[in-house]
Amino acid sequence: MRKKIVAGNWKMNENLQEGVALAKEINETLKADKPNCGVIICTPFIHLASVAQVLDRNVVELGAENCADKEKGAYTGEVSAAMVKSTGAQYVILGHSERRQYYHETPEILKEKVQLALANGLKVIFCCGETLDEREANKQNEVVKAELDGSVFNLSAEEWKNIVLAYEPIWAIGTGKTATSDQAEEMLAYIRTIVADKYGKEAAEDTTILYGGSCKPSNAAELFAKPNIDGGLIGGASLKAADFKGIIDAWKK
Ligand code: PEP
Repeated sequence: MRKKIVAGNWKMNENLQEGVALAKEINETLKADKPNCGVIICTPFIHLASVAQVLDRNVVELGAENCADKEKGAYTGEVSAAMVKSTGAQYVILGHSERRQYYHETPEILKEKVQLALANGLKVIFCCGETLDEREANKQNEVVKAELDGSVFNLSAEEWKNIVLAYEPIWAIGTGKTATSDQAEEMLAYIRTIVADKYGKEAAEDTTILYGGSCKPSNAAELFAKPNIDGGLIGGASLKAADFKGIIDAWKK
């Protein structure tokens, strides 16, 4: 049975004190009312070590939002997968469209990052998704397949077990414009078929695939009711404990 997950992506929000307070609030809220799914919060690098101290890992897991494509050395300002792991984090988000778009992360760079993350014992939440122009040209399947082919379909079956996929149509991220549950389901079902082509039906059935893009308490239940949607990667709504909890509670409906 594949794992249901709700993961928060804080992006570049919250200073250290605010981040620790938010993590504590999420942790306390979820300890008081246990979730029906895995919960992960992915924070900026500077929060990781402190947030690690306040989370009960049986309830909330921890992830980074990025890591370097190099192992170690003279790469000023970079943070390696080994450093992320040493904070106590268990996950890292890679391939987010904001990293691809603003920091020019290519499939080749992402392939390196994925390898290093896995080699250092991190699980990877790997994002893929098309732009609005690509969807309007009906190229979404092709784009998503190329992103997976370019960065993660080289992995061994053993390595694949540590991959969570997140489909995030770029036109839905932070725009308030959610993909309909049918659009999301259609893409996630497609992704599952290409995972099955590569790793077999059983592995595909075991792969957690999330939807991301303006997911909120009001639409989460409808999205999560779809058979191929195993949860959400949540940006804006993960910055308020009550909203994040509202999405997590969608698994109880
Ligand atoms: C994201 O950036 O991963 C995301 C899904 O953002 P939002 O929920 O704000 O659209």
